[in-house]
Amino acid sequence: MSIEALITDRSRRVDWSGIRAVSALARERPGAVNLSIGQPEFAIPEACKRAAISAIEHDQNGYTPNPGLESLRGALSQRLARETGWGFDGAGAEAGLMITSGTSGGLLLACMAVLGPGDEVIVPDPYFVMYPHLATMCDARAVTCSTYETGFRLTAASVERLITPRTKMVILNSPGNPTGVVATSGDCAELLELCRRKNILLVSDEIYDEFTFSQGRTERTADGPRCPSPARIAGSVSNVLLIRGFGKTYGFTGWRLGYAAGPKRLIEELNKLQQYTFVCAPTPLQHGALAALNVDMSGVVAMYERRRDLVMSTLGAVAEVVRPDGAYYAFVKVPERLGMSGEAFFRAAAERDVLVIPGSTFSGRDTHFRLSFAVRDEALDRGLGVLAKMLRGQ
Ligand code: PMP
Repeated sequence: MSIEALITDRSRRVDWSGIRAVSALARERPGAVNLSIGQPEFAIPEACKRAAISAIEHDQNGYTPNPGLESLRGALSQRLARETGWGFDGAGAEAGLMITSGTSGGLLLACMAVLGPGDEVIVPDPYFVMYPHLATMCDARAVTCSTYETGFRLTAASVERLITPRTKMVILNSPGNPTGVVATSGDCAELLELCRRKNILLVSDEIYDEFTFSQGRTERTADGPRCPSPARIAGSVSNVLLIRGFGKTYGFTGWRLGYAAGPKRLIEELNKLQQYTFVCAPTPLQHGALAALNVDMSGVVAMYERRRDLVMSTLGAVAEVVRPDGAYYAFVKVPERLGMSGEAFFRAAAERDVLVIPGSTFSGRDTHFRLSFAVRDEALDRGLGVLAKMLRGQ
């Protein structure tokens, strides 16, 4: 029996994530300052814990309907209707919403529904590690659009040059991983117009939407300042798939919860696929997520904004860093005078007990590194001190 002979070429084309190697290094060096982690360090809100535990204790442990817990979908649809103007209810409803197994679950279902063999999806470079592999899993191709020239903004002008008759999807990720950069309102409007003109689905991965800093590119909405989103532009429901999550916002990444909202017909299709894959998101944890909707995270976001300021004041003077206006990452350029690739810098930093992630993990280039400031202040201080010294060439 040869398992090798059974494995598909498609599966072989998918690589292990570079982040795994960094995690292995972190296990080998338990004393190191770990700035490679992409999840919040704070304890999750008490109300969420209580609601999930109570759901388990009250026997809410079976399946929910495929698209999710009715009460959670209802609350989110109401919020989104207020924010975007999309119509979720009634006979003429144009929009649909479903709960997914993590933001990743929503992204996978969207790719399965829209991308076929030979189709193309345009993704920013640098990108969230999953995007190219999702395309591969659907026998499609990710076409990377460099954002190095535009301060890591994905612009319609650069996307348009890459569109071919096979392009079916463009992924916008704002605030972005690995850069923390937030799209401008103009970027969102121009991308939406381009995608509409070319009949392309614009997937807006807004997993970090709550982590948008007050000093940055924010828009006023009925619910306070928010990062610009194509979903808030009139008529956008026709070709925008909005994907948001709970894990990063409330600190329960392991609960695997997200949601997808967009054209009703597309959400129906995703839901059909969910029926035969994830079935539904974890039931008791959906109850926990419902409780999260009443939790105010602004104190935490303000703390992250202060950390962002510390990153900029420490590293901004010694290296090129585009200011992150959201999420909790900074993508730092290794100064050319050091003559080091991102990989080489990462290895040298690990030798000094600071873990970051080489830019090549997220990009066709190897000129930068990503650091996460979702770590306690003392660790961040210590790590930034070492990195600043290295960037000065000491
Ligand atoms: N999109 C982006 C941009 C991310 O950074 C992540 C997680 N790192 C995800 C999606 C996946 O999130 P989830 O854990 O909700 O599946």
